[in-house]
Amino acid sequence: MQKELFFTLLDTVIQTPKRITVLSHVNPDGDAIGSSLGFSQFLRKFGHEVEVIVPNAFPDFLSWMPGAAQIHVYDKETEDCDRILDQTDCLAILDFNQPSRAGLVQNKIKSLKVTKILIDHHRDTDFTPFFCFLSETEISSTSELVAETILHYGDRFIDETIATNILVGIITDTGSFSHSIFRPETFSICAKLFEKAPSYNQIHRLVYDTFSEDRLRLLGYSISNKMEVLDEFSTSIISLNKEELASFNYQVGDTEGIVNYPLSMKKIKMAVLVTERQGVIRFSFRSKGSFSVHELAQKYFNGGGHTNAAGGTLSCSFTEALEILHRVLPEYKDLLNKIE
Ligand code: 5GP
Ligand code: MN
Repeated sequence: MQKELFFTLLDTVIQTPKRITVLSHVNPDGDAIGSSLGFSQFLRKFGHEVEVIVPNAFPDFLSWMPGAAQIHVYDKETEDCDRILDQTDCLAILDFNQPSRAGLVQNKIKSLKVTKILIDHHRDTDFTPFFCFLSETEISSTSELVAETILHYGDRFIDETIATNILVGIITDTGSFSHSIFRPETFSICAKLFEKAPSYNQIHRLVYDTFSEDRLRLLGYSISNKMEVLDEFSTSIISLNKEELASFNYQVGDTEGIVNYPLSMKKIKMAVLVTERQGVIRFSFRSKGSFSVHELAQKYFNGGGHTNAAGGTLSCSFTEALEILHRVLPEYKDLLNKIE
């Protein structure tokens, strides 16, 4: 859907106050929380009653974000969330585009016959139908799309709270402006947001200088003891099983960012983090250049995402999951070793 058509249709929803639920994806990250909070705070300016729901808990390092304390976590407050969803007039889906990414909420949202809106930047949606959608893949983050939507209404709709939330989304999804920036407008949008927000230094510190000692030691252990380097495939794999995570007193969010470190080696084209979670094995993929981890995650790991950052899950043992990963690498050998 063209942006202008999206803005026109969204406007028909926005102009009459209603109950709106903003929903983001399972294992919410900075962009999921930032875009959902920013969009909900914008909608409230038009008199809507807005609730934000996420399928499961978000990391503690995002809990300071303005409005985060009011977010409903579906697997902790299922009855309340079901009641909110049953009473909603409109569902806004942010930062995901596949029903499975709604985790435990997926059946509920399929059954809801209400106006649905989607704002997202992932590839290959299999979600229909939407009253209106903004689905752009060459964009840093869903938060940037929310910023564009709000700025379409005018700079005066951006306040400190909205600016802060959206900036967290953009800063985290771009690795502090180090990747996923496809156009100069990202910076002009951020400049407008920073006019209303705390300084970049302050937001950066609030998001990143929050490690527990255990989390930093887990990072050290992952790189020193667990990083496998497969020169043949220009690939690095870090794997952490349940016992290893428990020995570092694992908390939600503690493995965030670990997957990026192996990519800082010049010779590495793809980095994979494999972690054993409750009942499933989770994969995080990162790549450099044209190698698409989205395609690999989609084909073999029930997942997807973006060209250079994707995730997926397998329901099998930890050992089997690692065997599967090693087994698929030869298929990608030429692409992984392509000189760019
Ligand atoms: P992360 O590795 O940080 O969990 O995820 C990287 C990117 O891939 C994020 O943009 C995230 O939304 C997406 N992603 C992660 N897991 C999945 C998944 O299971 N399915 C799909 N479609 N996307 C995923
Ligand atoms: Mn995102």
